[in-house]
Amino acid sequence: MLSVSEPCLGQDEKDALAEVIDSGWITMGERVRKFEQAFATLHGAEDCVALSSCTAALHLILLGLGVGPGDEVLVPAMTFAATANSVLYVGAKPVFVDIESADVPLMSIDDAAAKVTARTKAMIIVHFAGYLADKEKWQAFAAERGLLLIEDAAHASGLAEAGTIGVAAAFSFYGNKNMTTAEGGAVIARDPGLLDRVRQARGHGLTSGTFQRHGNSMPSYDVTMLGYNYRMDELRAAIGLVQLKKLMDWNDRRRELTALYRGYLAERAQHVVVPFSAPRKTACHIMPVVLPHDSARPDVITALRNAGVQTTIHYPPTHLFSYYREKFPGIELRETEDFARRELTLPLHPKMREEHVDHVTRALADAL
Ligand SMILES: *Cc1c(COP(=O)(O)O)cnc(C)c1O
Repeated sequence: MLSVSEPCLGQDEKDALAEVIDSGWITMGERVRKFEQAFATLHGAEDCVALSSCTAALHLILLGLGVGPGDEVLVPAMTFAATANSVLYVGAKPVFVDIESADVPLMSIDDAAAKVTARTKAMIIVHFAGYLADKEKWQAFAAERGLLLIEDAAHASGLAEAGTIGVAAAFSFYGNKNMTTAEGGAVIARDPGLLDRVRQARGHGLTSGTFQRHGNSMPSYDVTMLGYNYRMDELRAAIGLVQLKKLMDWNDRRRELTALYRGYLAERAQHVVVPFSAPRKTACHIMPVVLPHDSARPDVITALRNAGVQTTIHYPPTHLFSYYREKFPGIELRETEDFARRELTLPLHPKMREEHVDHVTRALADAL
């Protein structure tokens, strides 16, 4: 079976893990710090904070920016549930925004403008499938209205521009992302004050770092905010440092495979929409296609599975999950719902070869 995604792991990661175990120090330490510096450098940032997940990153960004009860945050529904969940963690209200179209399944600026109210405080844009949201347009949108712009960059690790658009960006190193630490995440932010608040909230709200700088006075630390345990550990950071060295090559390979997909699909399945027809900066995280209106997606999925090809759906829209439907009933997002009904995600990962793309596109054309 050809998997939709697969982590690239091998001897280098094993060696790195063995080194941590031999060192006798497995919880957050100097490797986490090294990983933070390396990840920040890759994205042209001064610094970043490594965390236990991207979900924790989104939570602490909102917390650090003072988003809370009474505030509204614009979010797409065409994303993983964690994007909206993080808004609820801080007591704010997620306001769901439609996508532009099946060709550009990114949060629509027009629909976002229509959904701004006096309570809107922030918005979280998602670089869906790794394709970068429009930097200048969103920055102008946020500046004109005095809103905080946040990036959910879970799909865009290694894309230099990810993390340069908003006040802060959240990255994911979950097992199916472009690079992995098994579980893990990071926050990039330009404001060192925000980064400090995220760093303190990551470790129970303890001020130990500050106290250490002032010598060992009593008490050795204080708690000055409600914090969490969102730390990364040395084992994960060690894997991350190895993965970071390979990430750019992997992303290049993803772009090559995506170009092959586009070529074969144009030949073999003209009635399938391949989103992002116009050139756009991308980390090519996944390979979404949109099936014709009259095709039976469950049958296509079965036919592909019988041909040894795994597929998934990105995403069941957040506003249609039971929990969200009960909390925020009656929301309709036409483009998002149409896209979600017809979308199919094809296998894409750096270990794939050209003949895999050939096989998948033939199987898809046959199935249709
Ligand atoms: C994977 C993902 C997340 C959550 O990442 P975790 O590291 O698993 O918490 C958030 N947003 C998007 C768009 C994702 O794809």
